[in-house]
Amino acid sequence: MDKVLIANRGEIALRILRACKELGIKTVAVHSTADRNLKHVLLADESICIGNASATESYLNIPRIIAAAEVTNSIAIHPGYGFLAENADFADAVEKSGFIFIGPKADTINLMGDKVSAINAMKKAGVPCVPGSDGPLTDDVERNKAIAKRIGYPIIVKAAGGGGGRGMRVVRSEAELIKSIETTQAEAGAAFGNSVVYMEKFLENPRHVEIQVLADGQGNAIHLGERDCSMQRRHQKVVEEAPAPGISEQMRNKIGDRCRKACIEIGYRGAGTFEFLYENGEFYFIEMNTRIQVEHPVSEMITGVDLVKEQLRIAAGQPLSIDQSQIQIRGHAIECRINAEDPNSFIPSPGKIEMFHPPGGLGVRWDSHIYAGYTVPPYYDSMIGKLITYGESRDEAIARMRHALDELVVDGIKTNIPLQQRIMADENFYAGGTNIHYLEKKLGLN
Ligand code: ADP
Repeated sequence: MDKVLIANRGEIALRILRACKELGIKTVAVHSTADRNLKHVLLADESICIGNASATESYLNIPRIIAAAEVTNSIAIHPGYGFLAENADFADAVEKSGFIFIGPKADTINLMGDKVSAINAMKKAGVPCVPGSDGPLTDDVERNKAIAKRIGYPIIVKAAGGGGGRGMRVVRSEAELIKSIETTQAEAGAAFGNSVVYMEKFLENPRHVEIQVLADGQGNAIHLGERDCSMQRRHQKVVEEAPAPGISEQMRNKIGDRCRKACIEIGYRGAGTFEFLYENGEFYFIEMNTRIQVEHPVSEMITGVDLVKEQLRIAAGQPLSIDQSQIQIRGHAIECRINAEDPNSFIPSPGKIEMFHPPGGLGVRWDSHIYAGYTVPPYYDSMIGKLITYGESRDEAIARMRHALDELVVDGIKTNIPLQQRIMADENFYAGGTNIHYLEKKLGLN
């Protein structure tokens, strides 16, 4: 696999480029007309403009991306995260055109993309799930009432094809049940083209804890411990850390082993994440992400494993280079997402970066494509970088994050650095283990 096309932009495109360079793999950058000056485009061996600024005309344009792979004689395509990363039609088109898709098989993406089939597969593999309807709801009103009663209110009605925190509704009593099911079905049909909904117990104050896995599709799989991503706003993660506060080695190994075995059972290939809600000492599976995630660096820092290089090796057909006994969790890592947005109103703040100073020092990692003079375009996600700190202890990682945030200077646009400073100074964050509603409550948003 000597040439990889990077079908993404921003920090993750640069992250993939760095991994390719370390492995001696040539790189092809594809970009929109708005992204000619992206750092990875300037550093890639070849680059091709694939369309206008709008993502539908460029980063979501399957025929253009395949054509770019053809004219550059690329061997494989890395989708990064977002855009086409979890699009089974894209994975299929890539493989049918004779290229390697750096990720799982299209069938696996489909299986995990439908939440009802994902939950069924996980249950079969012994992964703990939220008590629920065990399948789609029908139009049988009495049956639906009986299911909700058995689960116990409050329950949540969720769209099988939902994503991005949309397509769900909490129901607290039987009086609201039938109307809520109908409304969610109608919304899901309009938004996702799939009106199938199911029911789950609604957990009131869970944390978001997820397990990172790597599998080679040849019968080998490992887990790399957990991450806590409970610091969220509108279901968007703001801060992530690994390991998760309060999770013992025994609990980690138990849930990690279930995920590892599930990977083998479904023939999983590549990097992946099992997302769980965690409440009162129990894990409840909610979904699997079949791609590299934004927050992957915190797992890399505590295990020493380069997840993107492993993705490339797996795609090249090599068996996993490490087994579970070689995975040692050491120290603590925290990631703060740095966004171009107003720290109070959260309104995106694109524009030219006039001055830029990255932080540094032992245990400080800055994964970002920005530079002084770079203009953040208004067309895409507002994340402009990820600041990651590592320490021998959680306290040390937090202390480093505090001074790294103070050192980081991005002038010319607004950023959420002040918000991250507030979170790092928060006594409940410092104590560890806050739930998924904590940040919104702190900000007075609910
Ligand atoms: P999406 O694919 O849209 O991200 P998820 O199934 O991952 O959907 O759920 C997104 C978020 O919705 C979760 O992180 C959690 O905050 C909330 N949520 C989902 N299911 C439940 C549940 N059973 N109980 C409580 N909260 C839930």
